Amino acid sequence: MSVVGRLAPTPSGHLHLGNVTAFAAAWLSVRSAGGRLLLRMEDIDTVRARAYVEDGIREDLRWLGLSWDAEVPRQSVRDYRLAIEALRPHTYRCTCTRAQIKAAGGRYPGTCRDAGHVEGALRLRLPDGPVHFVDRRFGPRDVDPNLFGDPVLVRSDGLVSYNLAVVADDLTDGVTEVVRGADLLDFTAVQLHLWRWLGEREPTWLHAPLVLGPDGAKLSKSHGSTEVRALREAGWDPARVWRTVLPWLGLEPVGAIGDAVARFDAGVGARGPVVVG
Ligand code: GLU
Ligand code: ZN
Repeated sequence: MSVVGRLAPTPSGHLHLGNVTAFAAAWLSVRSAGGRLLLRMEDIDTVRARAYVEDGIREDLRWLGLSWDAEVPRQSVRDYRLAIEALRPHTYRCTCTRAQIKAAGGRYPGTCRDAGHVEGALRLRLPDGPVHFVDRRFGPRDVDPNLFGDPVLVRSDGLVSYNLAVVADDLTDGVTEVVRGADLLDFTAVQLHLWRWLGEREPTWLHAPLVLGPDGAKLSKSHGSTEVRALREAGWDPARVWRTVLPWLGLEPVGAIGDAVARFDAGVGARGPVVVG
């Protein structure tokens, strides 16, 4: 099967060096395999400033040389009803309130599993036990997806969750490799159940190192200075971005992403978080 990867930005904010690191890994993995790279806007949970942010993301990707072969439909125009229907044997409705779950220690105890509710949030009935998978950088992992209890797939107001949307989309789009930031590493355990119940195949997994701000916190909107557009305004060129980011992926600090393709090796580079200097 030929390789299909994707860049899946969430258009709630502009690209920062953490996104760039994950997208560089996704781009290099596909390009070094002669595969096809898709762009998908993951806007299921994003209502703010979408068009403006999305255009900014495409502009930043082009500036960096992170080319994509096709853009597939954004999440907000997709229909997840078939996936929800297919998961019916593995789901149930839950009417617990946030306060009730908090009182139970934050981990949903499965109260509604056999209650037969016909409304409420749709939860996944997770089987017991850890899920085994092999990450191309982090190696073999055994993660218990039950750490937080049965996950919500569809909120009571109808909003489809990240876990369901990303797996349904990757199946629809023919994605064969998932490459993303290490902040999502443990979500793989939940998502593997969804892959097994929705599809007849599984993707490969590669998690790029987490990038932390100078304050040691995960990059977010409060780290505006690590956004690609801020760096550009501060006089950085793409070569400087690549000389900064590529070593985090275990690569020579060359000034163009295309020049790193031949040496790409998913298994090398940082596993622990890297801190922006
Ligand atoms: N949209 C997610 C993000 O921006 C990535 C989803 C995924 O690759 O699973 O972090
Ligand atoms: Zn419940």
